[in-house]
Amino acid sequence: MIDDHGHPFARSGGPWNIASIGLFTEEGASADRRRQEVGGKRLWANLIDQRLAAYLKCNVADLPEARNEASANWPTYVRGLLDDANIVESIFDVGGERSSAVSDYFADLTARPVHWLGRIDPIIDNLMEKGADAETIVSEVERYCREAISAGCAGFKTAIAYRTGLAVRADMTIDAAQKSLTEPVPVRRRGKALRDLAFQRALGIAAEGGRPFQVHTGFGDSSLRLSESNPLLLEELLATEEGSSASVVLIHSGYPWTEELGFLALSKPNVFAEVSLINIFTPLKVTERILQLVELVPTDRIIFGTDGHEQPETFWFAAHALHQSWEQVAQELGRVGASASWIEEARHDLFEGNARRLYLD
Ligand SMILES: [Zn+2]
Repeated sequence: MIDDHGHPFARSGGPWNIASIGLFTEEGASADRRRQEVGGKRLWANLIDQRLAAYLKCNVADLPEARNEASANWPTYVRGLLDDANIVESIFDVGGERSSAVSDYFADLTARPVHWLGRIDPIIDNLMEKGADAETIVSEVERYCREAISAGCAGFKTAIAYRTGLAVRADMTIDAAQKSLTEPVPVRRRGKALRDLAFQRALGIAAEGGRPFQVHTGFGDSSLRLSESNPLLLEELLATEEGSSASVVLIHSGYPWTEELGFLALSKPNVFAEVSLINIFTPLKVTERILQLVELVPTDRIIFGTDGHEQPETFWFAAHALHQSWEQVAQELGRVGASASWIEEARHDLFEGNARRLYLD
């Protein structure tokens, strides 16, 4: 498969510690203690431990040491996992990078093509921290997007859901943006009008440059306000010229609003429904979620990713969840009478064809 959404991960191996991976991102000693306590109590953590022990041919109790030994040659270990999960090419969210330096590093490490997405949020956060005015921030975001396209990015991503939410207003002016910079809240929560305006402008540039835009929707780590992450909140933006001309990829299946996300992809020809992250953290629901999307959305607009991060096993686990779920999806589609050729074509589109057409052509 082509994995359309992952992150840079560890650059060396070591003992396996499942407690360090998860959605609880608070910092400090009590948060660390909590992470260790709940580490093994999460279903997905138990499943990844069981499967990794089987992969490494060891007992679960011996996993930390067995993984330490197996990962001594890090490139070989990482490539083995990706081969086993049939990930042939990846697209990474590299933050506010301006070049392929990070993705090139991971292409070398994984011995397969790795492409990059430009992120607009860090550009905005950094300039806000420095006290830049609205006009400067918006024009720097525009410059960043143009430079990223020239430097060969596969697309863009925004996590505006984690900042000021997905209810992006389409009527923001520079004056309103400037006023929003004076809100007495932390930078991550500051400047809604500014962030709305910058996102809309960035979408316009992505549309001109023929690059797709990934938008975080649905659940995420514990710093997210989930109520601000419902994909339906994007309807006003998607009705604008920028929002209806750029290719907009709504990621993570919008969990728990998968059908809502499916409706947006069904009703708007430039909107794509992407499945990732749920295949790590809610692995039992993946089959059901894919069926919900396949039932609604044309199959040329559903895309698969992992949202792998921190350790390469998260990519491996998430990709296997997709392959296994697809077998059940295909069985169900066959049972209700879909033709074998339609099912096979859909499989190819979802695992590879759509991502290639959208990001890489
Ligand atoms: Zn991600």
